[in-house]
Amino acid sequence: MLKIEKGLDNKILRTISIKIKDNEIKNYLKLAREMKNYIKDSDNGWVGLASPQVGYNIRLIIVSLPNSRDDENYKTIIMFNPVILEFSEECEFWEEWCLSVPNKKWKVSRSKEIKLAYQDEKWAYKSLALCELRARIVQHEIDHLNWILFVDRL
Ligand code: ZN
Repeated sequence: MLKIEKGLDNKILRTISIKIKDNEIKNYLKLAREMKNYIKDSDNGWVGLASPQVGYNIRLIIVSLPNSRDDENYKTIIMFNPVILEFSEECEFWEEWCLSVPNKKWKVSRSKEIKLAYQDEKWAYKSLALCELRARIVQHEIDHLNWILFVDRL
């Protein structure tokens, strides 16, 4: 069972997460799949989860990539060592919330488009261009790896 780290002063949430080395990925596959199952559970209903939120300061995020807030046929992807390569200058304001900061919803400004690179479950390098909601979800989760909580961006 995953335990969710919560609170603005939580030590793990406020620590920078370290890059996962090539030979370490196998140690974290089980965790990654558990995290993926966790957010796919409709009782949890979360579109993303970063490893510090479950107690690990490593660079791993799980993100769902819906086209819109009503899209139910989206993919949920495991990303090791995600890095945003480009941020659009154009930003959008939209409401966000977070499993680690319960009962808060705030409008946060994020780049409308991003390009990112990550490594998948087989350790292959992938890149993606994302916009709008999908770009927002990834930016929120990568912030967790850099100890930033969405309320810091208000
Ligand atoms: Zn969050």
